Amino acid sequence: MDDETFRAWARRAADWSVDYLAGVGERPVRAQVAPGEIFRQLPETPPAAGEPMERIFSDLDRVVMPGMTHWQHPRFFAYFPANASPPSLVAEFVTAALAAQCMLWQTSPAATELETRVMDWLRQMIGLPDAFTGVIQDSASGATLAALLTARERALGFTGNAKGLAGGPVLRVYASEQVHSSVDKAVRIAGLGDANLRRIPVTGPLHGMDPEALDAAIRADREAGLVPAAIVACLGGTGIGACDPIEAVAAVARRHDVFLHVDAAWAGSAMICPEFRDLMRGADLADSLVFNPHKWLFTHFDCSAHFVRDPKALTDTLGLRPAYLRTLGRDGVVDYNEWSIPLGRRFRALKLWFVIRSYGVEALRDMIRAHVAWARDLAGIIEADPDFEVTSAPVLSLFSFRYAPAWADDLDALNARLLERINDDGRTYLTQTRHEGRFVIRFQVGQTTTTREDVMMAWAAVRDLAAGLRVG
Ligand code: PLP
Repeated sequence: MDDETFRAWARRAADWSVDYLAGVGERPVRAQVAPGEIFRQLPETPPAAGEPMERIFSDLDRVVMPGMTHWQHPRFFAYFPANASPPSLVAEFVTAALAAQCMLWQTSPAATELETRVMDWLRQMIGLPDAFTGVIQDSASGATLAALLTARERALGFTGNAKGLAGGPVLRVYASEQVHSSVDKAVRIAGLGDANLRRIPVTGPLHGMDPEALDAAIRADREAGLVPAAIVACLGGTGIGACDPIEAVAAVARRHDVFLHVDAAWAGSAMICPEFRDLMRGADLADSLVFNPHKWLFTHFDCSAHFVRDPKALTDTLGLRPAYLRTLGRDGVVDYNEWSIPLGRRFRALKLWFVIRSYGVEALRDMIRAHVAWARDLAGIIEADPDFEVTSAPVLSLFSFRYAPAWADDLDALNARLLERINDDGRTYLTQTRHEGRFVIRFQVGQTTTTREDVMMAWAAVRDLAAGLRVG
């Protein structure tokens, strides 16, 4: 492709992006295709000769777009958000143009140094003390794995990597039922064994782990000759936003000298608002904390902010320096590949730099505050509706509810049917979880362009479709 053709297509892609985002609210939120429908339209064999860009681009609209679920739709209230923004998109264009591999300081000093600076901005923004150092990981799952590997090595005196785990002590990890499955996965990948992830019961309105039960479990394990290695606390669990009492959990961790990792993947972004920081009280005593600006801080995936108290423990765990990665006289600077599981790294700091500078911290706070306020408003409206019940109160901008009309007997089946109708209808997109043994519908507000009106439109759609269930 020559430069002029490239310029024309780059402009076309930029125009397409702006038009797509301007009109995304008119589309059904969740893709309305059947399994295999997109696949069947794709040729079985690759083209032997290059095809015109015009044809490729038109197939984007014809073949691909019907199979897309629109995460940037203003009425996307499913899962957790992946809220991008124009400044982040512009930065991603530039990042794609640079196509740099930022694995070592010398492979792009600006990428490393910008990451160091922007992560320190983020640290300040969420109110963590300067004892923490940040690194951008590809995902919260990757950060949690890195944290558990570090905890494992710390518990083994940094001998596990070299010697392997066979014949060593049994290491234990503690978490509540409310943590994300990335914790279960990290326990597996770290070779600790599913049976050594010990579940601590939860109590109270925030469904947080009971610190006394945690303390008792650690003591019992020690007495049985097992080695308590890590606690994973959750700040905003995926199901219903559960929050562990981090201060009390951290006191137990300190008492027993156990590594504490905090998973704040979703809720961490809201900690830029000082009034929500009660939820993270005690996080300054943790060893590690992750949150995802790629969820709720207007920044494209992938961008997970991982803060650690002891970077050396992390790099002693993950850092390797084969001959071909030495930088001859430039060693000893920060080489972020040693902080992460993959070697290769995208220039992920650039989009954060664009987002934070372009909005400024106050505007970012105001957007998150609005999401929280609208979620609370809607939960209040649902609470007052005799045919519905709020099944978990709002934690920040997430709550759950279910349809519970007097005439229905099997509420789980009824709500599963309602959810299917909602998502087939396309005006909004919601997802479910199980809470206290019941099928419930989650509602989280966090999209960049969502307004209060969108929240209320989604509720109107839910009510309409629920009313139709009685006759249908
Ligand atoms: N932790 C929590 C609380 C989450 O909600 C999620 C994803 O939704 C994750 C971890 C995993 O995030 P990632 O996709 O960045 O690995």
